Amino acid sequence: MKNDPVFDLINQENERQREGLELIPSENYVSTGVLRAMGSVLTNKYSEGYPSFRGITTDDFWDEDKISEEKLTNFRYYGGQVNVDRIERLAISRAMRLFHADHANVQPHSGANANEAVYFAWCEPGDKILAMNLAHGGHLTHGSPVTRSAKIYNFIAYGTTPEGDIDYDELERLALSEKPKIILVGYSAFMKVPDFDRVAKIGKKIGALLMADMAHVAGLIAGGVHPNPLDHGFQVMTTTTHKTLRGPRGGLILSKGNVASPLKKPEKTLENIPILIDRAVFPGTQGGPLEHVIAAKAVAFGEALQPEFQTYAKNIVKNAKALADGLMSRGFILQGGGTENHLVLVNVKKSFGVSGKMFEKALDLVGLTLNANALPEDKAAAFRPSGVRLGTPAITTRGMGVKEMDKIAEWMKQVVDICVKIGEEEKLEDKKYQPEFDKIHTEVKKLALKFPLPTERK
Ligand SMILES: *Cc1c(COP(=O)(O)O)cnc(C)c1O
Repeated sequence: MKNDPVFDLINQENERQREGLELIPSENYVSTGVLRAMGSVLTNKYSEGYPSFRGITTDDFWDEDKISEEKLTNFRYYGGQVNVDRIERLAISRAMRLFHADHANVQPHSGANANEAVYFAWCEPGDKILAMNLAHGGHLTHGSPVTRSAKIYNFIAYGTTPEGDIDYDELERLALSEKPKIILVGYSAFMKVPDFDRVAKIGKKIGALLMADMAHVAGLIAGGVHPNPLDHGFQVMTTTTHKTLRGPRGGLILSKGNVASPLKKPEKTLENIPILIDRAVFPGTQGGPLEHVIAAKAVAFGEALQPEFQTYAKNIVKNAKALADGLMSRGFILQGGGTENHLVLVNVKKSFGVSGKMFEKALDLVGLTLNANALPEDKAAAFRPSGVRLGTPAITTRGMGVKEMDKIAEWMKQVVDICVKIGEEEKLEDKKYQPEFDKIHTEVKKLALKFPLPTERK
């Protein structure tokens, strides 16, 4: 095992993460605790089913000591659950506290699985789901024709306005005329704060399930710098746990409603959504839960409940504003004219005539990692995107502040200037230009090494 190249490659990846700056808004650096839980013997354990809910009231879930006294092995298909049951209940109770939910399902293997389970819990094949247009900032799992969900359900899309906000009028018109079973608010490339109250009011008129996919901003909600949809009339919130929430790769479903025994077959009512979701995750769409990942989720939720996490969330937003200002003052045109969260969308094509893909590749050469992103105006789908998407969750974890944000904006301007000079993406690797990239790369590396990863800290 010692000579297995896999471990060399892991070490090299660790170096890449240390020496570069991670600007992909959906990535982050986990703590040593999260990493330890993930790499533990819990991966050996099968535990299909759920930890017992018998005799536990919603209030008990808020009290970690109380729930550990309960009988533990009622709804599992295997023996030996004594420890994993306690771990999973810790994850559940911490998630509920963090997001003001009546119920949490911590088993979804990913954000995509979490969304599919909710659709499966509430909809029949052919039912309508109203969600954000992918080209306007929605996610693949919100109805992209290449997904399984889109073959089963009938997705209808609303879009954004030219100013980059949700087109609420269009959303309302479509909701009233199409009467979807679910109205979904959530996005991967959107930098405004949604008006949950307004959408909830529309949804209640037609009895739709109100679902928010907060995969990107869950950490901002946990840290108190972004409204929580569950406090504003929404019944279901799905999220990933590895983006701003800074946990292991995974999914999570939070809901409001009845949390009675999952043994009785529940009626399909909005009130029963939590039970319907449990059954839709397992056995509906998944097999055995990843208890090592669930343990890491519990650790991450515990971290997010600490006061320091609120400071972290505040700094993410502060840094994103500083980065946006730094870019705009250097001539970059931003979608929506700035940001209200952790994420910035730059229209590189309109700003400097450079394609998003060329800019992404050039920034890779200097150790700044982000991704090219389609903008609403891009007709040919994501093939030749005009924009790049970047964000501050990861670099804020490293402890960087507004001064470093301005430096990053300056490097991005220098790189885009070189791109303008080079002209064609194919010539990026031309030896002639390497010294210019290398010079910036050295400066990036130097700054990165001054801010260690959480797993390197003593
Ligand atoms: C990232 C993301 C997902 C999917 O998460 P995975 O864990 O990659 O499956 C779902 N919805 C939104 C809005 C996302 O940004």
